[in-house]
Amino acid sequence: MNKVFNWQINREMEYPHAEHHPDRQFAFVFNLNRCIGCQTCTMACKSTWTFSKGQEFMWWNNVETKPYGGYPQSWDVKILKLLEEANPGGQKWKDGTFKGKTIFEAGPKNIGDEPQRVLGYLPTDEEWRFPNIYEDNAVGPKGKESSYVPEGAKLPEHKTWFFYLARICNHCTYPGCLAACPRNAIYKRPEDGVVLVDQERCRGYRKCVEACPYKKAMYRPSTRITEKCIACYPRLEGKDPETKGQPMETRCMAACIGQIRLQGLVKIDKKTGEWAEDRYNPIYYLVKIAKVGLPLYPQFGTEPNGFYIPPRWVPRDFLKQMFGPGVDHAIDSYMVPDRELLAVQQLFRKTNQIIFRYELKEGPKVFETQIHGKPFTMYNDTIIGYNQAGKEVVRTQVEEPFHVRPNIHQNSI
Ligand code: SF4
Ligand code: SF4
Ligand code: SF4
Repeated sequence: MNKVFNWQINREMEYPHAEHHPDRQFAFVFNLNRCIGCQTCTMACKSTWTFSKGQEFMWWNNVETKPYGGYPQSWDVKILKLLEEANPGGQKWKDGTFKGKTIFEAGPKNIGDEPQRVLGYLPTDEEWRFPNIYEDNAVGPKGKESSYVPEGAKLPEHKTWFFYLARICNHCTYPGCLAACPRNAIYKRPEDGVVLVDQERCRGYRKCVEACPYKKAMYRPSTRITEKCIACYPRLEGKDPETKGQPMETRCMAACIGQIRLQGLVKIDKKTGEWAEDRYNPIYYLVKIAKVGLPLYPQFGTEPNGFYIPPRWVPRDFLKQMFGPGVDHAIDSYMVPDRELLAVQQLFRKTNQIIFRYELKEGPKVFETQIHGKPFTMYNDTIIGYNQAGKEVVRTQVEEPFHVRPNIHQNSI
């Protein structure tokens, strides 16, 4: 095992391969406060990449209802349980550092007779059946099925709650799938960090399916090899005619009705493997400066490159287990956003092109109030996004324009 640095758990960790980093990294931020569970993203991916024979149960993008839903069923509960069994009582954070064991550290010594490189499990066929089982099932009073807490809902935490968790492959910095493959059939592209399965080399051992803690590597029985989300790489490469050679957001991002998604490419410091400073890249800003975008289960150790703004009504303990110790700060900042955060949020789903830099132009004060006892001031600032070539691709304002339909069109829908 080699030692690599994982910034999300704030320490070095063991990993089967030596440290090696791409020039840029595919990354995204999903705002879970906005997801409406419409599954448009799910169908955008399916109708593009997984509509063929043998792919019927393959959903590279899925949206599950937490806490009960999961695709495959109970994927996160099962891997958390395995980690707990491997390190009883030790899976804890202290001062922003994860003190427990990752899937790479818990794996080799603790599972069965056969040594494993990565802690994991193979889901059963039944567990892959439904992409959104227990849809809209809320948590209510303990022990009472189909019931809710009658006293009504109030922030900061609702007693009856659920939320939608949209998921794709996280194109991890230290992928579990890649680490476990005995054929070295999985690789990370040097130009954008996208994790791909070499279809010629794969022999369908399903070690990746077992090792991906997010269960985003999927076996196709009709070809007997594994397939997974490819981050729509032709679009990242600017191959879609729409953007004339400029990097474009993926299918699932571009289709998002709830405008919860922003996707980008972040620069990587090749020496340290960390994100290079890029202050006005919106993904860099949301994750590293505002710190409202948090990784999903950072304690697994793969350093996922998908980040989430946590849902503000969900009990904090649940969220902390899922998104790590940054939850309080992320929700507090999101609920009472400062001027820049409010403006950057307007960039979500305003263009199909990937935004590499943004600029803020200050506008007048339009509103003032108190939110949970904290002062909040809203300014009608203008935010401008630029593509890779430095060309303006979006210009929008904090205050949405209000259009009145003229009388002549009143009855047309
Ligand atoms: S999410 Fe899973 S399949 Fe995707 S790169 Fe990470 S370990 Fe591999
Ligand atoms: S990035 Fe592309 S391949 Fe991956 S889940 Fe989204 S639509 Fe599917
Ligand atoms: S399209 Fe957007 S809002 Fe709809 S389910 Fe997908 S992530 Fe959620």
